[in-house]
Amino acid sequence: MTEPVETVDILIIGAGPVGMTLHLALAAGGQKSRLIDRRPQQALQADPRALALSHGARELLEQIASWPTRAATPIETIHVSQKDGFGRTLIDRADYLLPALGYVVRYRDLAAALAANLAADSLLADAEIIDIHTDDDGATVALRQADGTMRRFRCRLLVHAEGTAYDDPAVSVADYAQHAVICEVTPTPKHGNRAWERFTPDGPLALLPLGEQFSIVFTLPPARADAVMAMDDSRFLAALQAQFGERLRFAAAGPRSRFPLALRLRDTLVKGREVWIGNTAQTLHPVSGQGFNLGLRDAWELAEFLCRDGVDRSDLAAYAAGRQLDRRGSAWFTDKVVRLFSNDSPPLRLARGLGLLGLDLCPPARHFVARRMIWGARAWP
Ligand SMILES: Cc1cc2nc3c(=O)[nH]c(=O)nc-3n(C[C@H](O)[C@H](O)[C@H](O)COP(=O)(O)OP(=O)(O)OC[C@H]3O[C@@H](n4cnc5c(N)ncnc54)[C@H](O)[C@@H]3O)c2cc1C
Repeated sequence: MTEPVETVDILIIGAGPVGMTLHLALAAGGQKSRLIDRRPQQALQADPRALALSHGARELLEQIASWPTRAATPIETIHVSQKDGFGRTLIDRADYLLPALGYVVRYRDLAAALAANLAADSLLADAEIIDIHTDDDGATVALRQADGTMRRFRCRLLVHAEGTAYDDPAVSVADYAQHAVICEVTPTPKHGNRAWERFTPDGPLALLPLGEQFSIVFTLPPARADAVMAMDDSRFLAALQAQFGERLRFAAAGPRSRFPLALRLRDTLVKGREVWIGNTAQTLHPVSGQGFNLGLRDAWELAEFLCRDGVDRSDLAAYAAGRQLDRRGSAWFTDKVVRLFSNDSPPLRLARGLGLLGLDLCPPARHFVARRMIWGARAWP
């Protein structure tokens, strides 16, 4: 027997932070959608990442009452430097008349703040998609729930927010041959709400203030990441110290996780009645913390289109065209930073030092970079 077809205007596959943001922004604008996720809902609480969110991201999340105030640590200054080389830049919130340049939030706390606003029947978690059939008017999606129940949904628009796309021929991949080892460590002295971005020949090392601790993103070639993952805590802290230098001391490392890093860019954001947003549209290197900020803007702009013009009349091609500057600009910026800074070439070290010095001495250039991080493409002149 075939199960009955349930209808919904917009179906969103993937209830990560981007999918949930889209659902809540649509609801705020009067559009109905439903979320499907293959993970049980509590699995989001096991995600080890911490996310640096821009001031612009905070403003958007506040509009859907999903800003995790108590869980967010403000970033007041960002110190950018290179290992074994001169030049440094300091970006200060005071120059932008903002309470903070950005904030650091655990993925799980952000997910919980968003999930707290979902209506009871809006998310089907622990559901495996069995089939997707698309046609000119929408899509039909068949899924199996954890208890074995089969369900079928008919929607007029299908949004993909499944996170990083692996093995998808529509996505171009450039492997960085770097892995991010992440964990939390306790600094001495206290972090003073300063974030550090330290470029090393192995890859960037980021220290993000989170509560009393730093959330560390320690980027390394895969073989060195293997070695670092296998170390006991005291050897790990020594390796971190050697990479960072002596300005701070680190103690009490928390559990470590690792993520292989690649730039993944989907060529086409819209196909018929399907749209791709968030990490499934683009996955970036975590240097300068752009990924979720960008995915949030994808979700926000798509919701604006759909709420303004309606699901059937929205010009999805115009939405896709409008996202190109932001996503390609962010991908280009992070890619160039990683490639220019992750090497030991003396001429490039000199050029980097001059570049960092130039940014520090030339406020308009520094402000441009800072505004780009705070506002995304809205910062372009
Ligand atoms: C080490 C590291 C550090 C980072 N730091 C930052 C940072 O500082 N700032 C920042 O902005 N970004 C950062 N990012 C990027 C950020 O984590 C991502 O951009 C963000 O999580 C993307 O959200 P998403 O909702 O698109 O995808 P995800 O968070 O991956 O969520 C996708 C959801 O889709 C579900 N799903 C997948 N496949 C299916 C399927 N077939 N059917 C149903 N459901 C499915 C998954 O279960 C999941 O719940 C970092 C990334 C890494 C790896």
